[in-house]
Amino acid sequence: MPELPEVEVTKRYLEPFLVQRQINKVIVSADNYLFLTPPKELKQQLHGRTIQVLERRAKYLLVGLDNQSRILLHLGMTGQLLTANVPSPLRLLSSTTGASLTPEAQVAFRPDEHTHLQLGFSDQGPEVWFRDPRKFGKVKWLKPGASDERLDKLGIDALEADGSELFAAFRKRKIAIKALLLQQTALAGVGNIYADEGLFLAQIHPERSVADVKLAECRQLVKFIQQVMERSIETGGSSISDFVKPDGSQGSYQDERQVYARQGMPCRVCKTTIMHTVVATRSTHYCPKCQR
Ligand SMILES: [Zn+2]
Repeated sequence: MPELPEVEVTKRYLEPFLVQRQINKVIVSADNYLFLTPPKELKQQLHGRTIQVLERRAKYLLVGLDNQSRILLHLGMTGQLLTANVPSPLRLLSSTTGASLTPEAQVAFRPDEHTHLQLGFSDQGPEVWFRDPRKFGKVKWLKPGASDERLDKLGIDALEADGSELFAAFRKRKIAIKALLLQQTALAGVGNIYADEGLFLAQIHPERSVADVKLAECRQLVKFIQQVMERSIETGGSSISDFVKPDGSQGSYQDERQVYARQGMPCRVCKTTIMHTVVATRSTHYCPKCQR
């Protein structure tokens, strides 16, 4: 599932393909639960508009248009924003997604039945496509001045937070630290991978109550989460399931993981076997010796 680093990688790559370009073609798939704005209305609202800015808010992308309306995008589990400027953007996809494509599509990808939104531009340059096989992604048009409850409930962006803000947010709650991190209300943008990695580096057990976490530990946690996220952005994100960069290539941060999906393997610090448990319905990985 794309988390903050993967969305940031997508944003940095897509920016020049969106900003200052006028939309003159909008192709949408049949209405489905990915569309929070009905596709027909979306088409009307986007046609002819010029994109002014592309912003990231936690795991969301916001496309700002010239009439001050915005498009809210979320990649969900398997969403991919792709540009049509490379010959075969899906050639490096993960095996599961790759296998779902016809042999022709694996060589030179063209929008398929999973491509729900296609944007063409008046400069006749590369199109931008939103593809999502499982349709847990989201597309919503926000009228000028409008926000969305999904954005309103977000805590401080993980890349901008500091330890004392996190400590203050923790004082109001009494749940497992991993569970609160996943809720996005204290720290926004941290999902399963970076929560496990950050907690390992800060030596905090994922099931510890946030009420017991000290200020110094919050500072360490924020520092390490930012460190792993920045390193992940540098390496193109984690392509553990379906994430690919908009040019179809994979990130490589997964090769640097300390604990995530390493259950049964030795801890890189102390050699103790990495354990697996479930916190807030999500797969959780930790070292029972390093993390307390
Ligand atoms: Zn260890």
